[in-house]
Amino acid sequence: MLALKITSPGHTETCTVQEREPGAGEVKLRVHRVGLCGSDLNTFRGLNPMVTYPRIPGHEIGAEVIATGTGVSTCSVGDKVVAIPYTECGRCAACRAGRFNACEFNETLGVQRDGAMSATCVLPAEKLLVCNSLSFDDLALVEPLAVGMRVARRAAVDIGDHVVVFGCGVVGLGAIAGAAAAGGRVVAVDVDDRKKSIALACGAERFFNSRTDPLEELPRSIDGGRGPAVVVEAVGLDMTYRAAIDIVAFAGRVVYVGYAKKPVSFDTSLFVKKELDIRGSRNASARDFSAVLSLLEQRRYPLDRLITAHYPLSEAGRAFTDWAADTGGVTKFVVDIT
Ligand SMILES: [Zn+2]
Ligand SMILES: [Zn+2]
Repeated sequence: MLALKITSPGHTETCTVQEREPGAGEVKLRVHRVGLCGSDLNTFRGLNPMVTYPRIPGHEIGAEVIATGTGVSTCSVGDKVVAIPYTECGRCAACRAGRFNACEFNETLGVQRDGAMSATCVLPAEKLLVCNSLSFDDLALVEPLAVGMRVARRAAVDIGDHVVVFGCGVVGLGAIAGAAAAGGRVVAVDVDDRKKSIALACGAERFFNSRTDPLEELPRSIDGGRGPAVVVEAVGLDMTYRAAIDIVAFAGRVVYVGYAKKPVSFDTSLFVKKELDIRGSRNASARDFSAVLSLLEQRRYPLDRLITAHYPLSEAGRAFTDWAADTGGVTKFVVDIT
């Protein structure tokens, strides 16, 4: 079968790889859509320290069940599914706390092990969620939106909470939608005005362009000048990591999901002075996936506008170079496998 490999930083290759049949408890999928993730782009750029080459990327999938192994009762041939692309060891502290999404020894599809950018793939049945009412395009968007949903949960957003979200990629948009669904009043922040209408459609009340307007003025316009109770960082830059601490209200919560590629230094006195709750958020739980599927069925996301462009598998390599050339203008590139 055909697959796409990232052979080394900056280089991809469409090639033929061995197809596999499902064993006990496994399901064989025909992969219809694969969304490109920021982590896949980092692999392409040689900036993902968790990756070795060559690697088949892809973990955001919209797929169809074509065969089931023995003992599989949770899905049948013909079902449309989305995959939870992480593994859990069951023994580390996170797993023992029931937070499998943060497993110390997690291996994400397409990162620490080969991913789904191929005609078929075989996954454990327990990692699949069936949703026959959505399209394959919709299903390919579930994972990054679920990562955003997890952020909104980690921030414990309550009705009326003022929330600022830095970064309007799909994870940021997922956090906006999750926070808005929980009753938060969201201001979306990005450096690109092209993200404005999509952020508002996901549930933000307001959009703030931090390239054209000074960020330090933002808190003055929120909650009578007190600033936001919650700040979400979904960018991964030292500037936004620090700004989150600067603009959050006293006694506020800051949640980081953006993956910073180098160490960030802080004025730690603000942690104490503001008595902040500072949290990380990683991947997403089965509950977060289910919550997103439910919001998707209610059409709570501007689904038709989240996908910037489609590429056939034979041109998936070009999707990486196009994205690398215009990171600001891309919400989601999707590769159409079949
Ligand atoms: Zn992803
Ligand atoms: Zn674990």
